[in-house]
Amino acid sequence: VSKKSPRIAIIGAGPAGCYTAQFLRKCWSAAEIIIFDRHDLPYGLIRYGVAPDHLGTKAIAKQFDRLFVRDRVEFVGNTDIGTDITLEQLRHDFDIVVLATGLWSDRIIDGFHAKGPPPLGLYGSGYLTRLINGHPGESAAQLRIGRRTIIVGNGNVAVDLVRLLLSTSDVLREHGVAEDVITALNDGPLERISVVGRSPIDAAKFDPPMIKELAKVRDVRFTTDAPISAEPSPTETAIRHIVERTETPAGRLVDFHFGWTPERVIGGDRVEGATFRSGDGRLLAIPAESLCTAVGFTETEGAVLRRDALTSISSDIDTGRLADGLYCVGWLRRGPVGTIPANRADARLVSDAIITDYESLALEDPRPQTTTRLTTS
Ligand SMILES: Cc1cc2nc3c(=O)[nH]c(=O)nc-3n(C[C@H](O)[C@H](O)[C@H](O)COP(=O)(O)OP(=O)(O)OC[C@H]3O[C@@H](n4cnc5c(N)ncnc54)[C@H](O)[C@@H]3O)c2cc1C
Repeated sequence: VSKKSPRIAIIGAGPAGCYTAQFLRKCWSAAEIIIFDRHDLPYGLIRYGVAPDHLGTKAIAKQFDRLFVRDRVEFVGNTDIGTDITLEQLRHDFDIVVLATGLWSDRIIDGFHAKGPPPLGLYGSGYLTRLINGHPGESAAQLRIGRRTIIVGNGNVAVDLVRLLLSTSDVLREHGVAEDVITALNDGPLERISVVGRSPIDAAKFDPPMIKELAKVRDVRFTTDAPISAEPSPTETAIRHIVERTETPAGRLVDFHFGWTPERVIGGDRVEGATFRSGDGRLLAIPAESLCTAVGFTETEGAVLRRDALTSISSDIDTGRLADGLYCVGWLRRGPVGTIPANRADARLVSDAIITDYESLALEDPRPQTTTRLTTS
């Protein structure tokens, strides 16, 4: 390993950015490493995505605290790269720039989101989970869940929403959820949640432990419209388990629907329900006062740091290389899938590429050490 230490800027203090800083610090003990984030506090979706009642997962952030107190990695918050500092300026001032900006926009469902302002009661899971987690940029002023809601999606974020929407005010309060958010979530109060997914039950992406955790919620009956498979998947087995052991009578109902493609939202300026269509043309119409989409995340339209805008024919996304000295890692590199630990493997892969590139560059033609200091506007 060369003794020459690069100056490194990492954009995004989520898990991918923090793991990358850990790996690069291990290789270059004297390198200047700065992590920039648009938020004033680090840790990305660990802070603003992971459900507040999943304390063990939230605690993963603690290991990253050491980066800033012990490992001499600098955190510069409240700095949006692309707005406060341009990417070009960062690339000029640092030898290595790593984009670890994640994917923060809720994916849109075709036909559900017409042009113009969304109807009252239509929410994305990103907005809801940020709000529940106290994100400073989100407001509960337009939140109205009502007595019946629909959650569209077959992944773990959908299950997080089911559990959080069924949580009592006391439980939410205990986990630090703000009073105005608790009031808005419990305005119905909620009597029924319909969870609707496009895939059949055996292809649903819920993790079985997430489904099993729902069994702990009191005063809920679970049902499903899915026919029993000949060889049920672990997810189907978990769903059957909570349906079979369901509480009756119960004040609230969660019904899981599988194999229904979203068609349209019913209502004008307020959500009144939604329709779905099965593969063989049957219609499912569900009345509801609100609708939450949990169908994944994507790049924010018009964002400066979109991966596609920075990719050229010389990029190698498989190893995170976008251009000379410019890399991407985490959800931005490989899409909005995978848990926090998956970003560690990702960070290792990209860090290896960074180290290999820098060391071989240093051998061939050492780059001049940059001395320019950053100025933020
Ligand atoms: C709602 C939700 C719940 C989840 N729950 C779990 C769970 O329970 N367990 C689990 O293992 N995984 C969970 N995940 C997945 C996990 O959060 C991701 O795998 C992980 O956060 C992705 O890491 P990342 O660093 O790529 O992106 P992020 O965590 O999104 O971090 C990106 C960072 O970049 C910053 N940033 C973005 N753009 C800019 C810019 N222009 N300038 C400066 N900074 C910028 C952001 O502020 C953010 O801090 C969940 C995901 C979501 C969406």
